[in-house]
Amino acid sequence: MDDTSSSHCSADPQFPSPFFTVLPAEIRNLIYAEFWKLYSARQHVVKRQIREEADAEGDPGSFTEQWLHVPCLVDPSAEDIRWSKYMDSSPSSEDRRIWVNRLRSEWCLHWACEEQIQLQDRTGPAESVSDREVSGAPKSPPAHGRTGILDLLLTCKRIYLECLPSLYSSTTFILTDTRTAGEFLACYGTDAERFPLRSLELCIRLPNLLTEIYYPPAVPGLDDEGPPAIFAGRARPTVSVRNNPWQRLCDALVALPAPLHDLRIWLDSSDLRPWHKRVSETRFFARLSDVRGLDKTRFVLSLPELPERRGPDSHALQEHYLEDDKLDDVPFTVERGPRPNNWRVHLRNIVSFSAAAALSLQPNAIGPVYPVPPPEA
Ligand SMILES: [Zn+2]
Repeated sequence: MDDTSSSHCSADPQFPSPFFTVLPAEIRNLIYAEFWKLYSARQHVVKRQIREEADAEGDPGSFTEQWLHVPCLVDPSAEDIRWSKYMDSSPSSEDRRIWVNRLRSEWCLHWACEEQIQLQDRTGPAESVSDREVSGAPKSPPAHGRTGILDLLLTCKRIYLECLPSLYSSTTFILTDTRTAGEFLACYGTDAERFPLRSLELCIRLPNLLTEIYYPPAVPGLDDEGPPAIFAGRARPTVSVRNNPWQRLCDALVALPAPLHDLRIWLDSSDLRPWHKRVSETRFFARLSDVRGLDKTRFVLSLPELPERRGPDSHALQEHYLEDDKLDDVPFTVERGPRPNNWRVHLRNIVSFSAAAALSLQPNAIGPVYPVPPPEA
């Protein structure tokens, strides 16, 4: 994912190579497309801070940011098993701890991919984890080498330049946090010739900071563009409906120079309170109505399911849900599904912690009873 302008100037035309002189460009592009399929047509994009090496005087180097791509291990049509696994685990067990972490993973459905990267970070690239099983994770795709798609990109500059558009148009890029997704589109979403993005998947566990910004004002129309009172002040004085990472991501999707073929957005919230009580969907997703050029069936918004209405007050946000006639004029399809119950996870953790603390205070659980009774004569 480097800038290609300098490579254009210095690339060797590779005239002695029959690959370029015998095969027409159409055939070469078919070969590239098949090559991408060998690894994974679905790639995570992550941004890492890399510390540069210490200088001669021993001072630690500064950090630089680096884009990484990692093959996705998850079948996009697979069911989210985290909640049922969590419920099946015993309180205070190691299994319970693992599944709590997975429920809270910012990678959401892609928790196995996150664990794969963490494992790779610990073991290093020499022990790539393509074939190793992460506990509870779906089976990994077959490994065909250590560097994956870089094998082809690093062959020579001419191949790099020629196959890059094929890579971007054949790959589904998956992003799991709002800020990185916005930055990715700002870097690679503005040049449709060099980086012809076709398929994008966002799988994001929204912090309540973001969703609260869009909570309806107490008096409709009043102070509609400003942040709620809890975010005003010194901490985040500039965060508002018009200026926040989610809005910038939506703006970038609207501004894409060429329409995507597929756009899937799966969302959950880290808020302990239920989605339907805090998220104004009509306000939060308003900007997405300006995304144009996609077939409505290929632009899918996957949201938490809404509970059944029980009386006029069961859904406090009333007209703010994307349902019924609110879906008539939007360019996307809304799918709904179950999400982990953050409040129950939180409560159970407190109970488990209290139980463990109580157990540790039982007289026979730790050491002698105080005051120590005098020895019998
Ligand atoms: Zn994944």
